[in-house]
Amino acid sequence: MSDKKLLNRRQFLERAALLGAAALGAGSLLSACDPPEPTVDEEDEAPANDEFSCNDEQALADLTDDEIANREAFEYVDQTPNPQERCDNCVHWQEPAAGENCGGCAILPGPFHPAGWCNQWVAMPS
Ligand code: SF4
Repeated sequence: MSDKKLLNRRQFLERAALLGAAALGAGSLLSACDPPEPTVDEEDEAPANDEFSCNDEQALADLTDDEIANREAFEYVDQTPNPQERCDNCVHWQEPAAGENCGGCAILPGPFHPAGWCNQWVAMPS
């Protein structure tokens, strides 16, 4: 009878050890599924096009509704969908004034992001 009790204790301890290991493994698996928290360094290395906007309410404050509608009709965005086509390599691009981030455009009024784009993009002649 004591052998049977000893066996039961042994079984209990083995099972407790297995359950503990399984719980630790499940915790590790669950934590591996969480997206990593951004570090301060990653936040500091945001792409340059995120550092300012040439298309937010403040940037467009001096434009008329028609001028804003033209930008929208030309699908202007601050971040080009195609890295090969950017405002700053478009034939219509106008460099920013000294101390300014946003440049201009020869065919649309308002500020434009160097990394921006619209559907009127034309490559600069080489
Ligand atoms: S035409 Fe479009 S892509 Fe070219 S500079 Fe003007 S806003 Fe940018």
